[in-house]
Amino acid sequence: MKIESEKMSILNNAVNSIRIGVEDFESPEADRSVSAIRNIAAGLLLLFKAKLCELSPADNKNLLIQKDLRPVPGPDGNVNFVGNEKKTVDAHQIRERLESMKIKVDWQRVGQIINLRNEIEHYYTEEPSAAVQEVVATSFLLIRDFVKNELCKDPQELLGDDCWQVLLETNEVYSAEEKSCKESLEKIDWKYPTVKTALSHMRCPECASALIEAPYENDTYPTINLRCKSCNHDFAFDDVMEKCLDELCSVGAYRRAKDGVDSPCATCPHCDKCTFVHEEGCCVACEQKLDYTECERCEAPLSLDDQELEGLCSYCNNLRDKLMRE
Ligand SMILES: [Zn+2]
Ligand SMILES: [Zn+2]
Ligand SMILES: [Zn+2]
Repeated sequence: MKIESEKMSILNNAVNSIRIGVEDFESPEADRSVSAIRNIAAGLLLLFKAKLCELSPADNKNLLIQKDLRPVPGPDGNVNFVGNEKKTVDAHQIRERLESMKIKVDWQRVGQIINLRNEIEHYYTEEPSAAVQEVVATSFLLIRDFVKNELCKDPQELLGDDCWQVLLETNEVYSAEEKSCKESLEKIDWKYPTVKTALSHMRCPECASALIEAPYENDTYPTINLRCKSCNHDFAFDDVMEKCLDELCSVGAYRRAKDGVDSPCATCPHCDKCTFVHEEGCCVACEQKLDYTECERCEAPLSLDDQELEGLCSYCNNLRDKLMRE
């Protein structure tokens, strides 16, 4: 029974944290929104930790939630692993370990929740009541699938009927609003596929809500009017474009760093925003293209980094420097 106990106590903490978060969410006091987001995010990470305990070897059911795992020689010349017993894994390491143990989680949704938790106190002026609705709605989907598929329990039984009902209903309301926002954005011609993809990261600059609609379907890129459905704030796409692309870049950053690939966006030499998209071959804010697209001498395609070489690729530029020195 001792083997199960570590996982069970973490699971109990997870459930408590989620329940308290949902109570915060339901409370009429606006200042409990931040606390709701924190508690629900913490509960979710604890659910993941419970799974890591379950996956840990029988003689140390804590092993996979410990930091700094390192190999040590075992008694029979085999390799054992030990960890730091005082420190537990952070969100990033939880993901790494669950991924390498082939556990399926929608990490984009998890990232959404963790980002909101991290940003909410620093960037937004309004009470995050809209963002908390999103956290509750999104975590419902994550909790439901993870508890059912990975912890092999009935999520409604685990969380209790009251908590479950709030999560379920919030998700239904939120999903319906989200759908109508998406439909209004679909009617706009966003001109660049990268921009269209980045829209999924768009948030209201006032309240952080992702429920944003485009009220005028005849707007032409890049002058697109937007309205937040949560706080009614009107703004322009131009106000949020850089942040959307920045989020898009950071989503893939973890994978790209692993594969050694560069970021898809760079600083535009014309408008200085970080909105030059390599794949589109232009800046999606000021729409300026590259001054030089191929090398004058060898016709190799030129990238943004080659622009300062005034029409030559770096190879031909080196060659010219060499000839000039001789
Ligand atoms: Zn808003
Ligand atoms: Zn530009
Ligand atoms: Zn060349």
